[in-house]
Amino acid sequence: MATETIIYGREEREIYEAPDFDSYYRSDRVQPLVDRFETLLARTDICSFDVFDTVLLRDERSELERFADVAAEFIRRAAAAGEGSVPELRTCLSARVLAASTAYQMSPEVQGCREGRFEEIVRNLVASLSLPEEPYLALWREAEFEIEASQLRGSAFIENLIDLAVARDKTVIFVSDMYLSASDIARLVEGCGISLEKIARIFSSADTVVNKRSGLVYDLVCGEYGTEPGRILHLGDSLEGDFIAAKRRGLEAIHLPIPKAILRKRLDSHRRMMDRLGGDAALPLPIAPPAL
Ligand SMILES: [Mg+2]
Repeated sequence: MATETIIYGREEREIYEAPDFDSYYRSDRVQPLVDRFETLLARTDICSFDVFDTVLLRDERSELERFADVAAEFIRRAAAAGEGSVPELRTCLSARVLAASTAYQMSPEVQGCREGRFEEIVRNLVASLSLPEEPYLALWREAEFEIEASQLRGSAFIENLIDLAVARDKTVIFVSDMYLSASDIARLVEGCGISLEKIARIFSSADTVVNKRSGLVYDLVCGEYGTEPGRILHLGDSLEGDFIAAKRRGLEAIHLPIPKAILRKRLDSHRRMMDRLGGDAALPLPIAPPAL
């Protein structure tokens, strides 16, 4: 098996070592990264951005803590709607995690890729809680969407890069490996104050099934635009999906890692949640801890 060595460039290392996003992106140290972006942009026609933790930044909460917040909001809304009692938070949270895993496992394979979709996740979840679809599907969907939106903010740095690309007449697209559809992602982007007028199209694996990890969505983008991969520049936080897979497919790419200090806090948040859920008897849940 071939061994790959990943060597971070200076900018990538500086972002990774920064205490948070802003202390790097709002400092003078960002200029070499902007210069690199402009050099690559000049050679390309399409400028592509990952969405989560690139265009829209998440905070220091783990995915598991976010789902716990969603479960709490769902319980609150169900009570406010006078719909009687729903299962306790721990049960709703476990159901959310298990429903995502089920939706993913049961998704029909497309070119070797699978993807869970939000609609199926919520349907599985409500069924597993033995609740009727009316009104609980809508209650969970709205609770999760609202919590998701409240825990995201737009990256001013990426907005500047988008403006630069638009000013140079480049086509700007977003490409996300995510269970939310392109239209849901568009609502979140707009909710964070980023104008959709600048964005030609959003590709989400919830719609395409083929994803960035496999590299197949990059082929799809090339096909849709009739473009050579080398004429696309992609930026994102995932080393595997946004950088290695993009480079393997022949795209130009820039890796924008999440600062290690934020990942550590997310890992702490994940462990705290697992402790709360498990107590003395650890509960096995199919949700990966944030990787450092
Ligand atoms: Mg991302």
